[in-house]
Amino acid sequence: MKIGRNDPCWCGCGKKYKKCHAAFDDKIAKFAREGHIVPPHDIIKTPEDIEGIKESAKINIAVLDYVAEHIGPGVSTETIDQWVYDITTQMGGIPAPLNYYGFPKSVCTSIDDVVCHGIPDENRILQEGEIVNVEVSTVYKGYYSDSSRMFCIGEVSPEKKKLVEVTKECVEIGIKNVKPWTFLGDMGEEVHNHAKANGYSVVREIGGHGIGLEFHEEPFVSYVSRKGEEMLMVPGMVFTIEPMVNMGKADVETNEEDGWTVTTADGLPSAQWEVTVLVTETGCEVLVY
Ligand code: MN
Repeated sequence: MKIGRNDPCWCGCGKKYKKCHAAFDDKIAKFAREGHIVPPHDIIKTPEDIEGIKESAKINIAVLDYVAEHIGPGVSTETIDQWVYDITTQMGGIPAPLNYYGFPKSVCTSIDDVVCHGIPDENRILQEGEIVNVEVSTVYKGYYSDSSRMFCIGEVSPEKKKLVEVTKECVEIGIKNVKPWTFLGDMGEEVHNHAKANGYSVVREIGGHGIGLEFHEEPFVSYVSRKGEEMLMVPGMVFTIEPMVNMGKADVETNEEDGWTVTTADGLPSAQWEVTVLVTETGCEVLVY
């Protein structure tokens, strides 16, 4: 169905299409004709959606701030799960991972060679020298937010510390390379290059994703992608930047018993930081960190 120039705009702003997204759609159509992957309308967020995601983000950030203040040697990953559940629900939110395709807990805790989706466990006590990713995903009034941070438990080796720092730099490089009317691959290649320049590899099979009205929306966001490839970025898109950077090889394995825990195939450590960004007219705004 083609929308008329005098019809109401599809974005719900109440203005006529020609006064709102008509030029925007013409620009997208030009990229589509050139053979590029372009975003569908349903992943372009309205100002109301963005406000909703920001409200959800307040809970997400508060939870991670609490974890940052209290995590340390001797804390079990089950205790972290309890903190996440309690703070999220006290603030009126729901932990998005809980019961997501059967995931049994409210947060993912991924230690050392665990790349992602580590399941909290009362018998898994954090030890001095470990690095752990805590990934918090929140639903509030139907809006999703998603971010993760790395924590160094006590003193960690210089090698692990560098991995954690370089992975954070990869996310910062990703943020700098989110620009409207360029491609996700332009950003992904820069992230990958920084990891490779430090002797690391980036996980291929798992990456970032669109987010907002659902936990995982289009597009899949790769950090081993190439310039000029992947989906066109346009203002109003919201997605995560969350490269998983491995100290050794990129290959990963999923635990067959629990169906969730992803580890590096070579047993070397992996790190990940995650932010959620909104593509703007000039670059991006970090909504969740
Ligand atoms: Mn995510």
